[in-house]
Amino acid sequence: MTKTILFDLTESELEKFVTDMGQPRFRAKQISEWLSRGAPNFSVMKNIPEKMRDDLDKIAQTLPVRVIKKLQSSDGATTKFLLELNDNERIECVLMRTSYGNSVCVSSQAGCAMGCKFCASTLLGLKRNLTVNEIFAQILVAQWELRGDRFTDKPIRPNGDANNGDVSHIVVMGTGEPLQNTDNVIGFIERANHDMGIGWRRITISTCGVVPGIDKLIEWGRPINLAISLHAPNDELRKKIMPIANKYSIHEIMDAAWRFTDLHNRQLMIEYILLGDIDGNLLNATCECAEQLVEIVRNKNCMVNLIPWNTVAERQFTSPSGNAIHRFQDILIKNGIHARIRRERGNDIGSACGQLRISEANK
Ligand code: SF4
Repeated sequence: MTKTILFDLTESELEKFVTDMGQPRFRAKQISEWLSRGAPNFSVMKNIPEKMRDDLDKIAQTLPVRVIKKLQSSDGATTKFLLELNDNERIECVLMRTSYGNSVCVSSQAGCAMGCKFCASTLLGLKRNLTVNEIFAQILVAQWELRGDRFTDKPIRPNGDANNGDVSHIVVMGTGEPLQNTDNVIGFIERANHDMGIGWRRITISTCGVVPGIDKLIEWGRPINLAISLHAPNDELRKKIMPIANKYSIHEIMDAAWRFTDLHNRQLMIEYILLGDIDGNLLNATCECAEQLVEIVRNKNCMVNLIPWNTVAERQFTSPSGNAIHRFQDILIKNGIHARIRRERGNDIGSACGQLRISEANK
């Protein structure tokens, strides 16, 4: 029997569901409060009678995602979740406890159609777009991890307070290309801002360069952060590692990106994975590439995140040496570009996006 997902019901639908069970209406409000905290099951709902919790368990589930596996990094800062959707598709989300707050990286699609050559998420292709609720439920899973059933008398409303133990930042940078699912991603962000008080400036969308999607964000008008997964400084090289480059040139992508950041007076993030080929030769991490990248971002308000390649067994790349990575960064910095080498979080728990889902699928 398919179980009803209570999180997907409206307030009046939930009331009807509860009264159809022969229970008083106020139980709907109690359940709703538990749902808004990310309750993973009914057994945690201590103010609901045990008999009703057992009955609920037979016919309903709380969230539209179920935690299948949870991995904790050895330093305790990162928790990675493998989640199952109702049609058995699997996605991942990651909770990162940082000095500035608790950040959650969410997936926007099950799988990905974009085919980036260095990425594990696209190996099984695109399965489907996630709904608003499926994306939102990922931050509730993280929220439950942070707080569990503590503070149940207090609604979640972090208002960006990094130290109060709630989710304070969101990055839409997990599995999938967010701007291939723009309407649902926008719906999710509106809801995260409205329901959880997460400020626009604490939310980041990362795209591989879907220009019409960036235009849609400009039209939407919210001052969130934008990150461009660039990964190559010229179209010829980019086409070799990112099929999207056959559709939109770097010039077109950056033009849209600068229009977005100029509108909101925001700093653009550039994501740049440093890759070597299978023989260890530098691919996009040469001095020449660094100089070309300088020309793309010169005199612009941006931060370049340099990401040393993480091994994905199915992908034939190598990570450049520490020297090559620092040489690349130095060229950017000498030219006045903000550039940092991204500290890897949770390396010991399969940090490359999609790795966990694929390793589980292969079992
Ligand atoms: S890097 Fe992003 S856009 Fe490219 S295949 Fe992976 S998930 Fe898709």
